[in-house]
Amino acid sequence: MATIQLYNSLTRTVDPFVTYKPGVVRMYTCGPTVYHYAHIGNLRTYLMEDVLDRFLRWSGYDVRRIMNITDVGHLTSDADTGEDKMLAGARREHKTVLEIAKFYTDAFFEDCRKLRIRRPDVVQPATGCVPEMIRLVEGLLEKGFAYEAGGNIYFDTSKLPNYHVFLRHREENLEVGVREGVGEDGNKRNKGDFVLWFTKSKFEDQELKWESPWGLGYPGWHIECSAIAIKYGGERLDLHCGGIDNQFPHHTNEIAQSESYLGHPWCPQWFHVHHLTTEGGKMSKSSGEFLTLSLLEEKGYSAMDYRFFCLQSHYRRSLLFSYPNLDNAKSAYRRLVERVSSVADAAGEPDGNAVAAWRETFASALGDDLNTSMALTVLYDLLKSSETGATKRALVASFDEVLSLGLLDGAAALHTADAPAADGEEDARIRALLDRRAEAKKAKNFAEADAIRDQLKAEGIQIIDTPQGAVWKKL
Ligand code: AMP
Ligand code: ZN
Repeated sequence: MATIQLYNSLTRTVDPFVTYKPGVVRMYTCGPTVYHYAHIGNLRTYLMEDVLDRFLRWSGYDVRRIMNITDVGHLTSDADTGEDKMLAGARREHKTVLEIAKFYTDAFFEDCRKLRIRRPDVVQPATGCVPEMIRLVEGLLEKGFAYEAGGNIYFDTSKLPNYHVFLRHREENLEVGVREGVGEDGNKRNKGDFVLWFTKSKFEDQELKWESPWGLGYPGWHIECSAIAIKYGGERLDLHCGGIDNQFPHHTNEIAQSESYLGHPWCPQWFHVHHLTTEGGKMSKSSGEFLTLSLLEEKGYSAMDYRFFCLQSHYRRSLLFSYPNLDNAKSAYRRLVERVSSVADAAGEPDGNAVAAWRETFASALGDDLNTSMALTVLYDLLKSSETGATKRALVASFDEVLSLGLLDGAAALHTADAPAADGEEDARIRALLDRRAEAKKAKNFAEADAIRDQLKAEGIQIIDTPQGAVWKKL
């Protein structure tokens, strides 16, 4: 198995990837808070985690990936203040918390399906693991890492000398706690302490509550990930993933809870995806244009255009989203599919030595801290190379197990075209018409969509609708 190097947020260096049991990866992913649609920033995180998951499998690891679904306890401020996001979402839509949890969980996995993101092996909603969370909190109380105050149970961060592992913050710099923690919640002994279990809170109207040794209540946000990860991943995880904003307080608190409960180190490798940003700054569900995958589709982009856009950049850099940038990715992706189409039906046997050598090059690109843009370069180099069509086809299929760009599916739809390629100008004109047709279809203006199809047909051009959007060929 080729060596894989990954940046590790814990050590802050690029380290060789290791696992507790050789060949087996227990990987945990913080899942979505299902109070609204995922925005495309959230989806960038899941998409890059998917590439990592797929790459590890492709490299021969036996991966067990676990994801929680946050359907209780995540407050509007990460510092245990504000409202439960789920409750706010339910109120907004005049529905119950469970109704919106189901709706947005389904919507999330529908986005994942379109983006060809592999479904984790275990998907566990937090509300399905409350007894496990209660046991964990009991364990923390027994061991002296937690205390009861004013009816709530808090984690006592003063018990851990290296609590601020990610930020290496000193407590006096701990903005989250300082701003709203002790000031507002006089029960906290230390600024950094966080809630494990709420009973006496100002959220009297919290919809979902459970019996616990401390009375009727509900869990804090962080405890679900420790409980779910330990339940399905055992006492030692190999890899933990999330967006960069999860580092603190969420992941810091997960480490504090899990290691204090287990009494030993828990997860040695942490993978964080940096943010997708817009010109306006942080991407948000509540201000500016709420960028969802469906919105992109309405504007004529396919999920694969967005996947390709994300793969072009490194996960450890923030990525600026703009429509011109996405346009570039869209045309590059369509050109790539067209190039793949020339080998999609290649006959004959692939050359085994060449396949092994190219796979090695592809593995080194991704093994270099998941360098997806380099992996795409390897793919382009392959397509330009003098390898036989059959070798290229076999390798495209293999690389696409990781890239998951639907390359051969798209190419198959195109491959019936035997006509000579169009020149750039003609291509751009036809693409503009296809985009207009996609917009017309979204707006249910089928007369216009049909008129565009007929116009192109009269010119001897056939439109083929594929899962990646419409493509065309000369008749
Ligand atoms: P949430 O649904 O708010 O719990 O977030 C789901 C995931 O998306 C978490 O792993 C976040 O860290 C991540 N995330 C939030 N905002 C962004 C963003 N702008 N870009 C990339 N990932 C994000
Ligand atoms: Zn988590």
